[in-house]
Amino acid sequence: MGVHFTPHLPSPDSCPALVLNADFRPLSYYPLSVWNWQTALKAVFLDRVSILSEYDRQVHSPSTAVNLPSVIALKKYVRQPRFPAFTRFNLFLRDRFSCQYCGSTHDLTFDHVIPRSQGGRTCWSNIAAACAPCNLRKGGRTPDEADMQPLRWPYRPTNHELHQNGRQFPPNYLHESWRDFLYWDTELEKG
Ligand SMILES: [Zn+2]
Repeated sequence: MGVHFTPHLPSPDSCPALVLNADFRPLSYYPLSVWNWQTALKAVFLDRVSILSEYDRQVHSPSTAVNLPSVIALKKYVRQPRFPAFTRFNLFLRDRFSCQYCGSTHDLTFDHVIPRSQGGRTCWSNIAAACAPCNLRKGGRTPDEADMQPLRWPYRPTNHELHQNGRQFPPNYLHESWRDFLYWDTELEKG
């Protein structure tokens, strides 16, 4: 039977493209902006992106073979909103996935710093990441009543701040061609 194995050849599905804005910065750090190879190639053919780096891996159509792009940059700058959406994920990212009362990174939930029963709203300036034990201990009390002051009072972050925080959580997969565009300041610190 004609089954051909080429174990050294990675699947195209394991070749995502890092997506940069027109200023060569990632569209987002966390989650890192990556596209699968189909989306990346489509954008290349529509002339919406420039290819900055390629994988060795090729894909073939009946008439042609192309290298899969590993780093692409949008040709048109996408303006980033100044303030991020108020979502659970963004709130954890603001608080760096740590309890704002004890610093724990386990068993995280959300705390209304001023309890809802006392008029506290569900918004950037009143919700803090809190571990389940701290949340339970604080209960329906204010920080003064519970004698539990948050390490930092909640606030609305800018997208820039969330990007900065996201740099602390690099993804598992980083192709070598991505290094020029990512985390160079942390690399410098390590050196
Ligand atoms: Zn805690």
